[in-house]
Amino acid sequence: MPEKQTPFRPSVEKRRILLIDDEVINQEILQMMLADTYEVLPALTGKEALEILHEQYETLNLVLLDLNLPDKHGLEVLWEIRNDSRYARIPVIVMTADSDAEVECLTLGAIDFIPKPYPRQEVVLARVRRTIELSEDRDILHWTERDRLTGLYNKDFFCRYAVQLDARHRDYPTDAILLNVNHFHMINERYGRKAGDELLREIGQKALEYVEEAGGITCRSEADTFLIYCPSRENYSSLLEKVSVPMPGSGNGQGENRVRIRMGVYAGVDKALDVERRFDRAKIAADTVKGNFTKAIGIYDDSMHETELMQEQLIEDFQAALREKQFEVFFQPKFDVRGEEPKLCSAEALVRWRHPKLGMVSPGIFIPLFENNGLIFRLDSYVWAEAAGKIREWKEKHSIALPVSVNVSRVDLYEPKLIEMMQEICFKSGIGNEELLLEITESAYTGDSGQIVEKVGKLREIGFRIEMDDFGSGYSSLNMLSTLPIDALKLDMYFIRNAFKEKQDTRLLEMMIRLAETFRVPVIAEGVETAEQAAALKSMGCDIIQGYYFSRPLPGADFESFMLEHNPNH
Ligand code: C2E
Ligand code: MG
Ligand code: MG
Repeated sequence: MPEKQTPFRPSVEKRRILLIDDEVINQEILQMMLADTYEVLPALTGKEALEILHEQYETLNLVLLDLNLPDKHGLEVLWEIRNDSRYARIPVIVMTADSDAEVECLTLGAIDFIPKPYPRQEVVLARVRRTIELSEDRDILHWTERDRLTGLYNKDFFCRYAVQLDARHRDYPTDAILLNVNHFHMINERYGRKAGDELLREIGQKALEYVEEAGGITCRSEADTFLIYCPSRENYSSLLEKVSVPMPGSGNGQGENRVRIRMGVYAGVDKALDVERRFDRAKIAADTVKGNFTKAIGIYDDSMHETELMQEQLIEDFQAALREKQFEVFFQPKFDVRGEEPKLCSAEALVRWRHPKLGMVSPGIFIPLFENNGLIFRLDSYVWAEAAGKIREWKEKHSIALPVSVNVSRVDLYEPKLIEMMQEICFKSGIGNEELLLEITESAYTGDSGQIVEKVGKLREIGFRIEMDDFGSGYSSLNMLSTLPIDALKLDMYFIRNAFKEKQDTRLLEMMIRLAETFRVPVIAEGVETAEQAAALKSMGCDIIQGYYFSRPLPGADFESFMLEHNPNH
């Protein structure tokens, strides 16, 4: 074993000091004072100093700088250190006999001074130690308040600084702005994660430049969402223009080659509201232009306030609704159309909310809301248990074993207890895992697909069957799709809608069905409303059909009668 091992422990390794002074005698004196505690790297000229910095900046903890150098003025060296982002974190102490230079040095970013001739060793050591400690504390603070990827504030600190800004500019009108990259998962998928990260960094940089110019602060709040809190302005298009950076690999990215960003503005915020609430409003505004190709900026107005109030109420009412069984599970039949006569083969469980004040609320409203608020897993578990209970009940009452598919939100897939919960539900209801089909939307597989694929694979290993919902809507790559563990594909309703519009054009639909067939699993069409559509789909090779043509989603009892009329056992 080598005798002198590097301890590899930052806390016990000696801190490193770059000592820039052309007088050999000064070098020696300081070496003597510091060498017990620090590792000192000598540089006799400005040029030499910058070379050492260039090669070793990552491990340097302090620069001691003499102002009289043979080749450059010390102030010049100081300026160069301060204006290179790689070195900016390294503190600089200036050593000078000229007290007039002090102000200028401080303006240029020196932290402290050591006068010449040198004071006693204790004084020098104390100053050096304090400066290094301060800069390390500042570093730690820097990284706890920053987002690693972009170097912007993280959301917590952003909110704190927003409060501070308010305190200083109480009556100044201020805007809360939210930026979100359209289809960011698709960019990641198409260009790779690295390019995606780079894109986020560039957007972050532009947002930062914007607030540096216009005033205010910015942060990255989550994956592809940025927040800006700034003095009110009249026009938001210049901001949008600025952050719409070129797509990866598109050079300057003129026009179409720019990343598409949607923006929500809550202008002239009410400062009595929590900072987070202000940005919830900006998000509501941004959501109004989601999927809109002609409009990228949404401005919060009073009509959206209604939405906000409604959303708040729904979240507030959730617990009671679950307790009081206001959530009702409806069932919509699926028919196997491969044989001569369509045959009932399964049903999809779809949740409804019978709200005491608002009446029937559609899942299109509350599902996305609960997905954002961490409530979805509890609701879904409830729906799964209800569905499992029905499967068991129908078996016992009518000897009909009809598998039921349930929707599994993409958010549920991140729930550590998902698999356990699913098994427990089936076990308690006394049904086999294979009787519960799991509908997982295609877009769940985009983004962090590795982890999801693994989880879905496990569910499948223990007997659950997986249906991919909304196939064709998620922009997944075919390559990725072909490796997925699935048992059926459900075409996105868009293809069916699109094919049977006034001007009928079924080519895209046919293509999707052919594509689905290459996965060698049954193809399901949903949203089928007429006999002609059903017949056309059958002739195109669709295996299973679901839609108003056979039946709307029905309450449990009504579905039971429907099932008896179409008894799959006969
Ligand atoms: P989905 O899973 O794609 O469900 C199909 C939707 O299409 C249902 O809407 C259904 O009522 C509707 N539909 C069925 N046939 C037809 C038709 O012929 N024409 C038309 N126009 N529509 C038809 P619904 O019940 O409003 O649900 C909307 C979405 O909400 C579902 O889309 C699903 O993603 C989600 N969802 C519903 N229940 C649950 C649940 O318990 N958990 C979770 N996580 N999501 C759910
Ligand atoms: Mg579904
Ligand atoms: Mg669907």
